[in-house]
Amino acid sequence: EETRRKKPNWLRVKLPVGKEYAKVRQLVDQHKLNTICESGNCPNMGECWGAGTATFMILGNVCTRSCSFCAVATGRPPEYDTDEPRRVAEAIKLMGVKHAVLTSVNRDELKDRGAEIWYQTVVETKKLSPETTIETLIPDVKSNWDALYRMIEGGQEVVSHNVETVEALYRRVRPQAKYIRSLEQIKLTKEYGKRTKTGIMLGLGETKEQVYKAMDDLAAHGCDILTLGQYLQPTKMHIEVAEFIHPDLFDHYREEGLIRGLKYVESGPLVRSSYHAERHVNV
Ligand code: SF4
Ligand code: SF4
Repeated sequence: EETRRKKPNWLRVKLPVGKEYAKVRQLVDQHKLNTICESGNCPNMGECWGAGTATFMILGNVCTRSCSFCAVATGRPPEYDTDEPRRVAEAIKLMGVKHAVLTSVNRDELKDRGAEIWYQTVVETKKLSPETTIETLIPDVKSNWDALYRMIEGGQEVVSHNVETVEALYRRVRPQAKYIRSLEQIKLTKEYGKRTKTGIMLGLGETKEQVYKAMDDLAAHGCDILTLGQYLQPTKMHIEVAEFIHPDLFDHYREEGLIRGLKYVESGPLVRSSYHAERHVNV
């Protein structure tokens, strides 16, 4: 039983304190917004919020899916809030963020998968903050390509979609998703003309060969940017950490990803898909 193993010291993080942190906290609460920083128990909140940035999660905080690594609540989501795009845009303006990252829960029960709210959030944000660049981390649209195009046509600079893990672990980690379908979504996003990005969590029991295979598949499907980070178990109810990956191996994976055709690889124990996202706008 290796479950309760102590975290290695390279996973220690800064505590969330400071003036900027308090400002982000206040704006998030005031505008009744959700962030994946909080919903995902992200270890980087001290750093990101302390630097005045956060990743907003739109379309509510209840997800139709039950990925085994994810701390977001699963269930039937209530009706969505049509005023949310405006509040997100306003918070981003007040925060003065230069690069905003937006994500959402999965809304499989909606015919358009939530695409209209996605579109409006991007458009509203661009309207209020024309200089702000935007990354949208969009969900699996389940091959509803009209929904995909609506989600990505609002003018955002980067479109990410996380494959999350290697193909062999999909059933355990991402039971309602399909590896091939996510690759297809990335490919179509690239063909539409967007800068594409994806993220993989390591430490779930994947082998090196499986990681290399994922890199090859991603490069072949037009993925530009890859983030690799250590999976951390949010609660005892979630899938266990199989392994704490050493920082040297993260470095090795970065090199390997570049050799295999990805344009940019952000790789390290604390990397999350929205971590250092501002660096990915111009790669
Ligand atoms: Fe939020 Fe992403 Fe920063 Fe984590 S890495 S605190 S999720 S912005
Ligand atoms: Fe979490 Fe996204 Fe999976 Fe929903 S689809 S459970 S928000 S990772």
